Amino acid sequence: MKIGVLALQGDFAEHAAMLDSIGVHPVEVRLPADLDGISGLCLPGGESTTMRHLIDRWALRQPLLEFAATGAPIYGTCAGMIILAREIADGDEPVLPLLDVTVRRNAFGRQLDSFEGELPVPLVGDTPVRGVFIRAPVIERVGPGVDVMATLDDGRVVAVRERNIVATAFHPELAGEPRFHRLIATMAAEHDDPGEGSGRRHHPTRRAGSAK
Ligand code: GLN
Repeated sequence: MKIGVLALQGDFAEHAAMLDSIGVHPVEVRLPADLDGISGLCLPGGESTTMRHLIDRWALRQPLLEFAATGAPIYGTCAGMIILAREIADGDEPVLPLLDVTVRRNAFGRQLDSFEGELPVPLVGDTPVRGVFIRAPVIERVGPGVDVMATLDDGRVVAVRERNIVATAFHPELAGEPRFHRLIATMAAEHDDPGEGSGRRHHPTRRAGSAK
């Protein structure tokens, strides 16, 4: 299976390396045609203002929205999460308003500019996730269709999922944490072959076939 990584700016190489390490073929996406044949997409961390300009310079906005509309999974980390937000507090217009949340950029201020912490994320497993936050945004409003995947101790929301869109304010790809990319790979496999994984619908047919 191939999963794309938007490779305009930011830590796309780390996302590609993470995908590679879990047995998924990473594809660098720079032009609309690069979206052909991929089953999911990662939007890396970096600088969302620069990423916004490059998305428009390379005419990627509409093709990315069309890719999302197919139901293929998209995973944004940090700046990638800002790109996916429907609203940006006190700031710019949204870029790909696919996630019904309001994010605030650089939400942790100078003293906590960058930090790491352990967070429980039950949706990806029992052991906590090591979160690396770098000038990270926070999610200030979550729409009714959005599942909160992780919060900080003070209750601030830092990971969400809405249907095929997953976003984290932190960077698992910088912490050797593969479980979010595995989740995207699983969602991508289910999107490619909806029968696979829901076993029940397939197995009776197969069993009936092999019994002959
Ligand atoms: N502060 C950056 C922004 O606002 C995001 C930082 C990151 O992706 N690590 O775009």
